[in-house]
Amino acid sequence: MPSVDPPTAGPPTIDPPLALLAELTHRCPLACPYCSNPIELERASSELHGEDWRRVLREAAALGVLQVHFSGGEPMVRRELATLIAEAASHGLYSNLITSGALGGEREIAAFAEAGLRHVQLSLQDHEAANADRIAGLAGAFERKMKFAAAVRAAGLPLTLNMVVHRQNLDGIAEMIDLAQSLGARRVEIAHVQYYAWALENRAALLPTRAQLDEATRIVEAARERLKGVLAIDYVVPDYYGVRPKSCMNGWGRQFLNVMPSGTVVPCHAAQTIPGIDFPSVREASLADIWYRSDAFNRFRGTGWMPDPCRDCDRREIDWGGCRCQALALTGDAARTDPVCALSPEHGVIEAALTEAAAAPAPFIYRRYR
Ligand code: SF4
Ligand code: SF4
Repeated sequence: MPSVDPPTAGPPTIDPPLALLAELTHRCPLACPYCSNPIELERASSELHGEDWRRVLREAAALGVLQVHFSGGEPMVRRELATLIAEAASHGLYSNLITSGALGGEREIAAFAEAGLRHVQLSLQDHEAANADRIAGLAGAFERKMKFAAAVRAAGLPLTLNMVVHRQNLDGIAEMIDLAQSLGARRVEIAHVQYYAWALENRAALLPTRAQLDEATRIVEAARERLKGVLAIDYVVPDYYGVRPKSCMNGWGRQFLNVMPSGTVVPCHAAQTIPGIDFPSVREASLADIWYRSDAFNRFRGTGWMPDPCRDCDRREIDWGGCRCQALALTGDAARTDPVCALSPEHGVIEAALTEAAAAPAPFIYRRYR
């Protein structure tokens, strides 16, 4: 497919997207209470067919996308995954598999490697089986993940471990880093839960205390120093404890697009929660049209939409006003300053949540079809 030129009219600053998140399905054998999938999970009957996904991959490559992340739910639920990896590879796309590791093993991984897969990200819930399985909501999940990690290494693929940390596993962070090393991972991403969707529902169970966070950060910093050149450690702190927001997705519609199982295209995981935006679908429009011309992708691009105090702030092209979905979830208006910012007039909602974190944790609400 020939490459797609950006439009000659319209905002001049729109570069092609860097990466595509292909959410092949919302089905997953696990039930993590911090899952970034929406509360209203899409059902198998609404999923794009393999042929549609192959077209999406072709269009992505023509648009200038460099990386495709096959994700879900659990992407290995989809039987045509190896074919999709091969399609991505045939267009020069770097493909990464983001998986729970709860399905499949050596045979599947070898087939993916053969098809052109370049990297695997395996999620782990804890370093210790009982708590890991409790968080995942599936007995035996930890054991399966250990075997899966070994299969990835046996196939010669680079492995990154994704460890989502929160109040109920944070105290084992040193052991998680040890586990990553023993599994032969090259990189570990230790990411504190971000409070959207299921995680927001479970905030009273997941938000750590300040003391927990400080101790975890101290351990990570020491491990980074100790393991330089051996294990790369990425560390994402919870923005509730910051004074400025994260640069969510590096800015709305600047680098990423996310195709949901049914074909709806969004700039980030939670964007569909924003009312009044008609998110387009790959069933009706090309990725190029969606990226360059759709109202949905242009709505919060750049700085023109910003309210006070972002409008005149010298960080406005650094954090882009924070996260639109967090602004919506916590203030009721996606066009407000992210309340995580201490300059936001609504910052009090964050302080109230942190006060709650000092109380006993609430029970988990597991991620399920409703
Ligand atoms: S976060 Fe957990 S439940 Fe959600 S897709 Fe990943 S493994 Fe499945
Ligand atoms: S006021 Fe807006 S642009 Fe400035 S730091 Fe806060 S969120 Fe970022």
